[in-house]
Amino acid sequence: MKVGIIGAGVGGLGAAVRFAKAGHDVIVFEANEHPGGKINNLELGDFRWDMGPSVFTGPEYIKELYELCGEDFSTFKFKKLDESFRYFYKDGTRFSLSAQQDKLIQTLSEELGEDKVTLKNYLDKCGKNYKAIAPMFIETSLHRWRHLMNKKLFKALSRIPKYKLNKTMHEENAQLFNNAKTAQLFDRYATYNGSSPYKAPAMLNMIQHLEINEGVYLPEHGMVQIAKSLHSLAVKQGAKFHFNEKVERIELDNEKIKSLKTDKSKYEFDIVVSNMDVLHTYNKLLPDFSKAPEKILNQERSSSAMVFYWGINKTFDELGVHNMFFSDDYKAEFKSLFETKTLYDDPSIYIHITCKEKSDDAPDNAENWFAMINCPVDTGQDWSEYRQRAKSAIINRLSRELNTDISSLIQEEFVMDAKFIEEKYSGALGSIYGNSSNNKYAAFYRHANFSKDIKGLYFVGVTVHPGGGIPLALNSAKIAFECFEEDQK
Ligand SMILES: Cc1cc2nc3c(=O)[nH]c(=O)nc-3n(C[C@H](O)[C@H](O)[C@H](O)COP(=O)(O)OP(=O)(O)OC[C@H]3O[C@@H](n4cnc5c(N)ncnc54)[C@H](O)[C@@H]3O)c2cc1C
Repeated sequence: MKVGIIGAGVGGLGAAVRFAKAGHDVIVFEANEHPGGKINNLELGDFRWDMGPSVFTGPEYIKELYELCGEDFSTFKFKKLDESFRYFYKDGTRFSLSAQQDKLIQTLSEELGEDKVTLKNYLDKCGKNYKAIAPMFIETSLHRWRHLMNKKLFKALSRIPKYKLNKTMHEENAQLFNNAKTAQLFDRYATYNGSSPYKAPAMLNMIQHLEINEGVYLPEHGMVQIAKSLHSLAVKQGAKFHFNEKVERIELDNEKIKSLKTDKSKYEFDIVVSNMDVLHTYNKLLPDFSKAPEKILNQERSSSAMVFYWGINKTFDELGVHNMFFSDDYKAEFKSLFETKTLYDDPSIYIHITCKEKSDDAPDNAENWFAMINCPVDTGQDWSEYRQRAKSAIINRLSRELNTDISSLIQEEFVMDAKFIEEKYSGALGSIYGNSSNNKYAAFYRHANFSKDIKGLYFVGVTVHPGGGIPLALNSAKIAFECFEEDQK
């Protein structure tokens, strides 16, 4: 069959591998010049940065694609980090969290006075909930009864009391731990799918399982290797890529896929897989289609981010690869920056420094900082003003913590905000993950991996089921392909 894929993000790449491996004629249209979408590269002067994702978890989902294609996964070079994050609190408390659970528990017990048994039970529960939920909510379509009705459903349902469905992530964490700093540490995982810990259900206190229990990894030569490797894998299976070619319309014949019109030409297809933000897929590519699922498309959007890519003219021993700077009086320091309803309630600065691992990302005695804060989607704010205010708030916080005037060390700078995400990757309003997960029914309000009304149309990527992050985007491609195969029978 002729399969057209819109977008070469990690979801589109996963779909390209699966459809091409199954023998279909696959063409991937990508508006940008590179594969990987938000897994993008930035080079300025002597510095290099991964522009988007930097926390790599769940390498087994990439391994699955290599094995599917009969390729040697050991050619994909990556390593597990000894520590996940270094934490910096405003009162001077600092520690590094080991990738080993017993050491991590020891640290949180010593530094924050937490009970070791409570911590162990909490982390084990995260893992058990993840393992019960993942086969249903992450690896299966939630939108087809016959996928749901099996033993996995009963395993997931049997743990319902453990999901604390009547609490938010923050309520559970604040109740369980003595120290507000521990709750803050675990609350932050809500941002991994663009949600707020004060609204997202406690069930999502399993997001940290992959990072904390299973570990954080780093591909050799940076995150862009994920995109490059999946692109080569897809090409080896016969998929063709048209970079710098934007899809403008999905054309239908009686609610059935007919063709894709791009800014260069027109192509006939039997099947279309959209990796474009699902909101824009309907609004921009199917503007005349009258049955768009408005309720799903009008849910609250997930958060956006502002990232300062700084070439820093100094090295800091106190910083690791991933660093989190909490701000206790965030109301004063950050909240006034983004006075909108969609504010993520607890901004913290996340600095990611890859050159600690790979020296050619920065010159000797220098570091490539990726300083990110979560922020709301674009609702018409004056972003140039916000960029200035965010920059000075971040620099103040870091300068105090590191006892150095950071502004004088910035040799190179590039800034990404919600407007950039909208324009560069077609992320609607600049949201990173499509709908937020700010209520307990959110998983059911994510768009399915197929269209109920348009024959031959499928969806992948973080804006559709199962949601945010590289592992989930890869799963979206797997589910979409399984739904396609089922539809052929
Ligand atoms: C700053 C930042 C930090 C992040 N950190 C992490 C992290 O640490 N770990 C993690 O797992 N995830 C992280 N994420 C989320 C991450 O972006 C996703 O996990 C994943 O990369 C998204 O993949 P996707 O398949 O949804 O597509 P995207 O990366 O959004 O790609 C979609 C592609 O479709 C293309 N496209 C759209 N419309 C068209 C069209 N009409 N025609 C042709 N092409 C089109 C776009 O150009 C784009 O290349 C982060 C995101 C950002 C922005």
